[in-house]
Amino acid sequence: MAATVIDGKAVAASVCGRVRAEVEELTAELGRPPGLATVLVGDDPASAIYVRRKREACEEVGIRSIHHEPDGSISQEDLLELVGELNDSDEVDGILVQLPLPDQIDSAVIVNSLDPDKDVDGLTPISAGRLARGEPGLVPCTPQGIMELLASQGVDPSGREAVIVGRSNLVGRPVFSLLLGANATVTICHSRTRDLGEVCRRAEILVAAAGQPRLITGDMVRPGATVIDVGTNRTDDGLVGDVDFDAAVEVAGAITPVPGGVGPMTIAMLLANTVEAARLRHKAAATSGRPS
Ligand code: NAD
Repeated sequence: MAATVIDGKAVAASVCGRVRAEVEELTAELGRPPGLATVLVGDDPASAIYVRRKREACEEVGIRSIHHEPDGSISQEDLLELVGELNDSDEVDGILVQLPLPDQIDSAVIVNSLDPDKDVDGLTPISAGRLARGEPGLVPCTPQGIMELLASQGVDPSGREAVIVGRSNLVGRPVFSLLLGANATVTICHSRTRDLGEVCRRAEILVAAAGQPRLITGDMVRPGATVIDVGTNRTDDGLVGDVDFDAAVEVAGAITPVPGGVGPMTIAMLLANTVEAARLRHKAAATSGRPS
């Protein structure tokens, strides 16, 4: 029997609905809406589209969008100064510096300068460390979206065999920590894994994040598994995932399509993270007696 196809757009819409209600509540509590600062350096057309979508999504749920668009020739020092101002601003709860940055700028230096409590992309080493240690903090958006998709299907990772293909800092590693935190037994595969098929066939939850079109064939999927395809690969056939969807859909219990699966979750989780950051900062300010 063919698998349930998980509708990422519908799950993302439900997350946005939840966020909208939280924004309303928080705006009343703070006396101002939560604020997300976006920094777009230079004129890369793809980055401009991503940032525009994020800003529109903010406005739809009532988050204030605070946008900075420095010239592509900005020096690292000046960009650090801008991030410093945003770190210090009380109106700003979350900061997103759109990557990639121009060549004269070391992205790691900029990312590392973000206040971890405003790091809504969850990219700083402190955010990564908190996640790895199971401590509260901001979690990267796509991995968090994957957990929402599992929850939307009623899949509780506890005690299950989970396999992740890909070990990037952006996807594979944070997903590993989240699944482990949810008590799954987790295996992570990568480009040096000897028999990928054998490991994948163990998975009750299979997350493919390798950036290799249709790497996961139907025979690598355990019957009834929940398959989350993170891959977005542009090919002559259009946008395809890391999973051979047509074959896997016949074996899996549930599967995300590409597009329309993981993709729509990323912006929804950015909004959720901005609200979470605002709430955490407000709570910290209240306990320290500082104004929030
Ligand atoms: P990456 O290139 O940083 O990492 C890829 C990982 O896959 C590496 O750890 C590598 O070891 C592993 N890998 C590569 N080939 C492999 C193979 N043949 N067998 C096993 N493992 C292999 O990529 P990333 O940033 O983690 O992104 C992965 C994919 O997810 C890309 O297609 C990317 O576009 C997509 N992505 C989608 C979203 C979204 O919102 N939908 C967000 C982030 C990334």
